[in-house]
Amino acid sequence: MTLNLHPRFAAYFSMEIALEPAMPTYAGGLGILAGDTLRAAADMGLPIVGITLLHRKGYFEQHLDATGNQTESPSVWSPEAVLQPTGVRAKVRIDGRTVQIRAWQYLIRGVGGHVIPVYLLDTALPENSPFDQALTDQLYGGDEHYRLCQEVVLGIGGVEMLHELGHHHLLTYHMNEGHSSLLTLAILDRHLQGRPAEQVTAEDLAFLHKKCVFTTHTPVPAGFDQFPGDLVRQVLGPERLATLERMNGLSGDVLNMTYLGLRGSHYINGVAMQHGEVSRGMFPEYPIHAITNGVHAATWTSPAFQQLYDKHIPEWRRDNNYLRYAIGITLGEIHAAHEHAKRALLDTIKEKTGVALDPAIFTIGFARRAATYKRADFLFSDIDRLKWMARHVGPFQVIYGGKAHPRDEPAKNMIRRVFEVMATVKELVRVVYVENYEMRWAQLLTSGVDLWLNTPQRPHEASGTSGMKAALNGVPSFSVPDGWWIEGHVESATGWDIGHEEVPDVPTEEIASLYDKLEHRILPMFYGRQRSYLEVMRHAIALNGSFFNAQRMMAQYVMNAYFSGRPGMSVQQILEEVRRPEAPVPESPIRSAAN
Ligand SMILES: *Cc1c(COP(=O)(O)O)cnc(C)c1O
Repeated sequence: MTLNLHPRFAAYFSMEIALEPAMPTYAGGLGILAGDTLRAAADMGLPIVGITLLHRKGYFEQHLDATGNQTESPSVWSPEAVLQPTGVRAKVRIDGRTVQIRAWQYLIRGVGGHVIPVYLLDTALPENSPFDQALTDQLYGGDEHYRLCQEVVLGIGGVEMLHELGHHHLLTYHMNEGHSSLLTLAILDRHLQGRPAEQVTAEDLAFLHKKCVFTTHTPVPAGFDQFPGDLVRQVLGPERLATLERMNGLSGDVLNMTYLGLRGSHYINGVAMQHGEVSRGMFPEYPIHAITNGVHAATWTSPAFQQLYDKHIPEWRRDNNYLRYAIGITLGEIHAAHEHAKRALLDTIKEKTGVALDPAIFTIGFARRAATYKRADFLFSDIDRLKWMARHVGPFQVIYGGKAHPRDEPAKNMIRRVFEVMATVKELVRVVYVENYEMRWAQLLTSGVDLWLNTPQRPHEASGTSGMKAALNGVPSFSVPDGWWIEGHVESATGWDIGHEEVPDVPTEEIASLYDKLEHRILPMFYGRQRSYLEVMRHAIALNGSFFNAQRMMAQYVMNAYFSGRPGMSVQQILEEVRRPEAPVPESPIRSAAN
């Protein structure tokens, strides 16, 4: 079979991409978003490519002992079994050495058969030193030197690899967060064709800007990758450094990857309306737009709801807008599909943990990376009141999941705290913490619980996406008004707010709001007014599932970012523009990511 992977108009760079459950090439929301973006692009027939690192040892496997102490081990997987070698090599200079890179290929096949290749860069080659061989092993592992070297492989190596693969005329390079910002340097250097850095002109920089799009995901400066100047000099070498300086790529004597991405791009966006605003406050000198995140609908919809949508709105896979018409699905069918998803979740919990949860009991879910700002233990702020509610208002049970970064002690303590409370409330409230939260668990949890809880400290949640997955499955959110929820929240219609967007977030008031609503609105509705609860579920799908999906997001990137500067041009015309004689790409069998 001939597979034409040319021409392509955009390359999407991300340090992590969640391609499928068997590939531990992601840590959390950022990687899931990257995978969902490319899956949606495949469904929409968009000719783009993805670039990431191979991560031979993944992020890590989480182990939790009986008191919630987390330990880690490498994720073992075999890239050779799931990926195709391209046979193509590129090289980069790191610490004065030449590092060889090869690319593995993963193909995402969209709903209409369109294929998007993802290239996973790998330095584990015998020609490389042992240190260099390990550069594409571990996601977010090692020290800052290791990280900077990885980012050279991703950003500079990625651009070189795309050229070696024959993608010479890409119109857009999209940086999903700052880890890949060094691609700006590689693009400019190639454009200079050997001219020295002193000769960089305004036109050269304009050429670069026109090609680059930057998406920031971090609303707090502490989240930016930064490297001291000495380290940058050592790793990049004098020529690259000269170009970097010429681009104004250093901030003082620091390489700040967010600033580098901002400076090199013509289009910059945050990932929800509020995050755009927060980002404009942080970087007032840049025009920052917002495109709210979305999730890939078919990936995150449980089998029971997939069947239901296939029956009533069969177009939904091709066009997620049709989810708006879920409003016409009967409450009985929504109830039955949810029971199915809940059963699948509880069965898996029984099998993996031995804990038998009761399907008749109201079930709350909370699972995401264990970062302190997400406040996993917030529900346990007033344990006496929690117990009182379980006894007098209605029973409930809680399912947790999430990994703490191996060096994030406060996050690890937060997990221990959940375990501590688990033990003290166990007579009245069953609490389960599932180990090693990843894609499969996320699919089960976001679809199988009755309520999706989200308690970030405002305004730290740039967007958040797990509540969107829940919405696709008719699971309402109960969330602090932060990130996407500011846009998705309609009180008692799509879910419930914790605290209020209009008033500052005082923790005591948020806690009061959390308990008051659980006691007076949510539990009574679930147990006493089932039809009303099912109405909320249906609205979560029709109002939020139809909007907070990756197809809508991708369409916005195309219209606002990729095609900006080319108003009125169609995808077809853009492709004409990039169609040139190109190097042949090695053929390989198609591996499908769509399920
Ligand atoms: C969706 C997802 C996340 C993101 O959760 P947030 O609540 O948006 O932080 C993290 N981890 C996994 C495995 C996911 O599937």
